[in-house]
Amino acid sequence: MRDFGIRLAYMPFHRATLTLASAGPRPGGGVYSVTDAAGTNGQWSITVVGGLASGALGEALVVGFLVLGIAVLLFLVVRLLARSRQRALTLVDERTKELRHQALHDGLTGLPNRALIVDRVGQMLARTHREPLAFGVLFIDLDNFKEINDSFGHHHGDDLLKAVGERLAAIVRPSDSVGRLGGDEFVVLVQGNSLDASPDIVAQSVLEVLSEPFRLSTMPDVPLSVHASIGVAVGARPDADELLRDADVALYQAKQAGKGRYVIFRPEMQVAVQERLALEMDLREAVAGGQLFVLYQPTFDLASLAMTGVEALVRWRHPRRGVIGPDRFIPIAEDSGMIIPLGRFVLSESCRQAAAWSSSGRVVQLSVNVSGRQLERDDFPADVAGALADSGLDPSLLTLELTESVLMRDADATIQRLQAPRDLGVKLAIDDFGTGYSSMAYLRRFPVDVLKIDRSFVGAMARSPEARSLIHTLVQLGKTLGLDTLAEGIEENTQLEELQRQQCEYGQGFYYSGPVSASAVEALFAPAHIPPHVSAKT
Ligand code: C2E
Ligand code: MG
Ligand code: MG
Repeated sequence: MRDFGIRLAYMPFHRATLTLASAGPRPGGGVYSVTDAAGTNGQWSITVVGGLASGALGEALVVGFLVLGIAVLLFLVVRLLARSRQRALTLVDERTKELRHQALHDGLTGLPNRALIVDRVGQMLARTHREPLAFGVLFIDLDNFKEINDSFGHHHGDDLLKAVGERLAAIVRPSDSVGRLGGDEFVVLVQGNSLDASPDIVAQSVLEVLSEPFRLSTMPDVPLSVHASIGVAVGARPDADELLRDADVALYQAKQAGKGRYVIFRPEMQVAVQERLALEMDLREAVAGGQLFVLYQPTFDLASLAMTGVEALVRWRHPRRGVIGPDRFIPIAEDSGMIIPLGRFVLSESCRQAAAWSSSGRVVQLSVNVSGRQLERDDFPADVAGALADSGLDPSLLTLELTESVLMRDADATIQRLQAPRDLGVKLAIDDFGTGYSSMAYLRRFPVDVLKIDRSFVGAMARSPEARSLIHTLVQLGKTLGLDTLAEGIEENTQLEELQRQQCEYGQGFYYSGPVSASAVEALFAPAHIPPHVSAKT
């Protein structure tokens, strides 16, 4: 018997038919080819090498042996290919699922994103055509997320968003969905049983679950209090977008009504949104058309009760609606960019007025509110310098009022933009101090001159020992850092007396004077003039 063997070779890209073909049989060996059963482009060939003993029996045995061998090999080859194909299919399947998940879920929280939420709302709407089904949408927006993000940094902000998503997911039923629409906006879809109890209860439980302070694992010692506003829309609509839009309108109403609450959509709310749009259009005319004007609210020395300065507060004389206060139109002006020309107007008009008082011997400190949107711009220092130069006002008589959140937003850029006015001698005040996530560290970085203690603490003083001790702490902080402290919102004599006891230096509030016209301010310039109803210190 000569040497005998079987060689197995794979020739890629040889397209062949699905046959087991023999190039023989030849007594001295042969080539058998097997097509690729698994469908890849190639051909397996099995070559029998070596000669065989002659004789019919021997040949029959060899052929039988060969056939058996080929069958076993074929089985192994097919299995091998089928397995790798299976692996490939599984991989493709997993990758597709992953991509689909990424396309339909929010990367940070893993919750459904807007696309998937819209799709689910569409499905729920379709079901209502077949069966009576109660369902609703809750739009949830975190009121103070931006402040937390600015104060503690994006990493902690992201952790907080994840934690919020987890809490929401924990309170809904399996048939409901929680999603994230982006930023600090979440959505909850509720259907059937969950809603039977009424959407109020669902919204209330969302507010409750979020009101518990958050302790992040990365910052366990700092409890974060989150406030949320919720807009709810319930019931059938022609399409998903309409239901979501109504929930958004209700959310807007909740924010307008003072945040930290839920509002259920009613059709007339759509009108309110249109109103806002109309106001936005009108505001463009207001700035150019001279409808804006400035009132001045005096600030005074708490010990002597003499007027020490005025704060410029803008008003809008609307041709049809009458006089509108800044709380109604400043947010619109900020969103639409109109705050820039508006801010320039207030700055130049009030500087002109203060310079006029000054040149007639009635020297008074002028405070002007500055929006974060103004400070985002590189031309802000030029606006301030321009208003001072045009009016001739002594820069040391001007104070810019900024809120804590503005200072925290982009600290380095903000410090830079405030440097030029500082170099001219302009002062800086922190407005509504104590309401933001104050980080005392920034008081050292920012060249601040005045802390304006928020009126909510002054208002709470009478009933809250905590408010009293907070004011005490802030006044002491001011003294330590060499800053003036001014208490806002003094409405009653008892508040005035308490603040005098606490040795707060300055005050502002309706008790002394509300915001008034420039000519009404002039009456207060008389030496040692004190408004008639204000009791002088005894
Ligand atoms: P603010 O800077 O904290 O101004 C004080 C606000 O408190 C004023 O409201 C004032 O009328 C009110 N106020 C004063 N004393 C009392 C008091 O004793 N009790 C109560 N309850 N309130 C008092 P106003 O004029 O409606 O302004 C509201 C806010 O609008 C201002 O708060 C300020 O943030 C903003 N604002 C006003 N004018 C301008 C402006 O020209 N530019 C910018 N960016 N914001 C402005
Ligand atoms: Mg102010
Ligand atoms: Mg204030």
